[in-house]
Amino acid sequence: MKALVFHKPKDVRVETVEDPRIEDKRDAIIRVTSTAICGSDLHIYNGMFPQPRNMVLGHEFMGIVEEVGSGVGNIKKGDRVVVPFPIACGHCHFCDMELPTHCENSNPHYGPEGALLKGKGAALFGYTDLYGGYNGGQAEYVRVPYADYGPRKVPDTLTDDQILFMTDIFPTGWSAIDWAQLKGGETVAVFGCGPVGIMAMKSAWLQGAKRVIGIDIQPYRLDIARKSARVETINAKEADAVEAIREMTKGYGADVCVDAVGMEADRSVLEKALNVIQLEKGTMKVLEHCFDAVRRGGTVTVVGVYGTPYDNFPLHQWFDKGIKLMGGQAWVQRYIDKLITLVQDGKVVLDDIITHKVPLSEASKMYDIFNKKEDNCLKVILKP
Ligand code: NAD
Ligand code: ZN
Ligand code: ZN
Repeated sequence: MKALVFHKPKDVRVETVEDPRIEDKRDAIIRVTSTAICGSDLHIYNGMFPQPRNMVLGHEFMGIVEEVGSGVGNIKKGDRVVVPFPIACGHCHFCDMELPTHCENSNPHYGPEGALLKGKGAALFGYTDLYGGYNGGQAEYVRVPYADYGPRKVPDTLTDDQILFMTDIFPTGWSAIDWAQLKGGETVAVFGCGPVGIMAMKSAWLQGAKRVIGIDIQPYRLDIARKSARVETINAKEADAVEAIREMTKGYGADVCVDAVGMEADRSVLEKALNVIQLEKGTMKVLEHCFDAVRRGGTVTVVGVYGTPYDNFPLHQWFDKGIKLMGGQAWVQRYIDKLITLVQDGKVVLDDIITHKVPLSEASKMYDIFNKKEDNCLKVILKP
């Protein structure tokens, strides 16, 4: 089959690889009909997460069930499914708590004596050996482990474009707001008008915010955020975003600040810091802005990915302002059924952020365009 294979940073190629096959009775093989490129894929592409061997990338995908193992009874050949990006067994200590990104079986780590270290981290499709070493879905076919737990059947009335973002970015944006437990009437400031940030903005409205502000440094992305999520925007290159948010909130600050940028906030520093464990101060600028711009007693949630330790975490501010803080990989399996219903009922539109839809064969070029933010690129769909 054809698949998008990571070779080394900035070197991804569509090439012929071995077809995936059933390896366990709980596996399914999916024929991929649509798959997206994510800001998270850029972390691998740019070498921020090291990946020593070739790997098929892609964790946002959906398609038609081609084959199931003997232990999979809920889906069958021919079903159309959307697949959550975290790989989770569904029945362990953490899955029972609906914390699929901490599943202890999908990415087992072993201690010095070979003892299983429980709950050592998420397993994700196509996301480096660190995250389990599973091949991803930017491919014609993909093996889906624990297929009796993750994949959801999709109503025929919805197109791929309408429902694909259930795999990741809508549940991720939803998590960012759900973690803040809005009571209604809050002001929410979302740093980052990428696909994830915009999904957080849409989620903020649905969860009861009265004012939503989007912050970015790319004018075309601010433009899309205004149109797609109906938010007020701040261009952080032209204005001091923290000051602007204070002015908009009678000096108090926003009730909730979301970091939907992550490590990408200062790429020049990151690229310098590659291969060193400790990042320099400045790398987490956006997170620091969130701590500055949130009101006392407010909430900061972090869905932008951070993959390295950091020494200048604003602990003093967190303590002094009494900030509630939550972050991590999204609990897709917890939210997905409810979110599919929201789309089905017409409560939210997700596909208006798609700017590029191309054959899988053009994936390598699209990584470059999405990474450089050229051609007003916001979200790329690949069609195998
Ligand atoms: P993206 O790269 O398209 O978007 C990032 C946005 O941040 C861009 O629009 C960029 O212009 C903006 N930005 C960069 N520096 C900024 C600054 N200093 N101030 C304001 N904005 C700035 O990526 P995306 O697909 O939207 O993903 C966003 C983040 O979410 C990434 O870190 C990604 O890895 C992460 N993510 C996390 C999860 C999760 O489960 N937690 C899931 C998906 C993606
Ligand atoms: Zn993603
Ligand atoms: Zn589990």
